[in-house]
Amino acid sequence: MLQVYNTLSRQKEAFEPLVDRQVRMYVCGITVYDYCHIGHARMLVAFDVIARWLRACDYQLTYVRNITDIDDKILARAQEKGIPYSELTEKFIACMHEDERALGIQPPDIEPRATDYVEQMKNLIQQLIDNGAAYSVENGDVYFAVDSFPGYGKLSGKRPDELLEGARVAVGELKKDPRDFALWKGAREDEPDDAQFEAPWGRGRPGWHIECSVMSTCNLGKSFDIHGGGQDLVFPHHENEIAQSEAASHQHYAKYWLHNNAVRVDDEKMSKSLGNFFTIRDVLQVYEAEVVRYLLLASHYRSPINYSDEALDNARHALERLYLALQGVEVAGGDQSGSNTDAAEAKERFSAAMNDDFNTPEALAVMFDLARRLNTAKAAGESVLASILGSVLYELGGWLGILQRNPTEALQSKHSAGSGLGAEEIEVLVAARTAAKNSGDYPEADRIREQLSENGIVLEDSREGTRWRRK
Ligand SMILES: [Zn+2]
Repeated sequence: MLQVYNTLSRQKEAFEPLVDRQVRMYVCGITVYDYCHIGHARMLVAFDVIARWLRACDYQLTYVRNITDIDDKILARAQEKGIPYSELTEKFIACMHEDERALGIQPPDIEPRATDYVEQMKNLIQQLIDNGAAYSVENGDVYFAVDSFPGYGKLSGKRPDELLEGARVAVGELKKDPRDFALWKGAREDEPDDAQFEAPWGRGRPGWHIECSVMSTCNLGKSFDIHGGGQDLVFPHHENEIAQSEAASHQHYAKYWLHNNAVRVDDEKMSKSLGNFFTIRDVLQVYEAEVVRYLLLASHYRSPINYSDEALDNARHALERLYLALQGVEVAGGDQSGSNTDAAEAKERFSAAMNDDFNTPEALAVMFDLARRLNTAKAAGESVLASILGSVLYELGGWLGILQRNPTEALQSKHSAGSGLGAEEIEVLVAARTAAKNSGDYPEADRIREQLSENGIVLEDSREGTRWRRK
């Protein structure tokens, strides 16, 4: 039984979709004014794995992830560059799709763009004005009246007085209450004409929050199962989405709210001002996409991830170990777990981990146990058993979107940082050293250890044999 942590209730809950066996999920996508960074990659991978697992559980999933293609940041950047904003957004949407393909992200079923839904946004705003939940002011802005919605604060857990303290009114804003937020931004003189739309309360453009309320409900209905996004969106973005949507529909908006945590760089917050800001394409220059994906899966989606070269090297090494186990094993398609108890147990434990709020680090730990069992079977020459165990390892990797390449090709790849030696070459050297030691040729064994050390490889001898790791 799948359990998910719901930000709304602040606890894990049994997952029960509104309609049996069907899941409708909306995730806040990217505001396309620049290249995607590693924080975006985390959101993309987290919800890709959630979508894959919902499908693995035989739910009929409709996954919607929007594109915010009109917004303050987009207009400011286009103005800086002196190009129409649509030229800027088209470019970065194409780049985003490229990055997604590289990271093995399965595309969402529907990918709505905000600019295609302006009419529906206007309708929702009109409905809120008619309900007394919103008001227009003389400069053409329309604000949501937070005071009119008693449930405001229920997602973020913020109290009304706390909200009042933190609220700021910017110059030129004509809010009745500092907590109110813009549904529509009246046209300003310095803003380009192509970003303005006609509306009953004056020319302008939609606010960011109303965009998501509309793109979600237009595609999934007024009530749906899962709403996801980065943790930084809980307040105010998602709190405001709930207020707008529920004030208009008088129905519960999303049942489960899932939020992924942030990426930190060398234990500091990632930010442009600190100069520790990595785009996906920067990282893919140095590391393989599968290594990046592995790193993002190695932490639970609700825990912070520390991004560093060391963490990436560890991810690379871990992935190599799994590929080494699969190398030379004949992998059959489909479910092979029925033919062996170890395989069946691994699959069961993997499912239990994923059903526990998508616990990917635990799921990976199960895969390592299976890889060890597979290595033992290979060493014992039990090729039928190895094939069964290998097939299950491959199947489990598929649910996480890793381990689907030809092992030999994956292991021979040099496109990664750190040691110039590939895992296969290292294994050959380690075996040669063991052979030299066993035959009493200690100078040769020392020479090989030295050679590996020069390439950044550390050896650890134990009764079970020699393990290696990258420094
Ligand atoms: Zn959103």
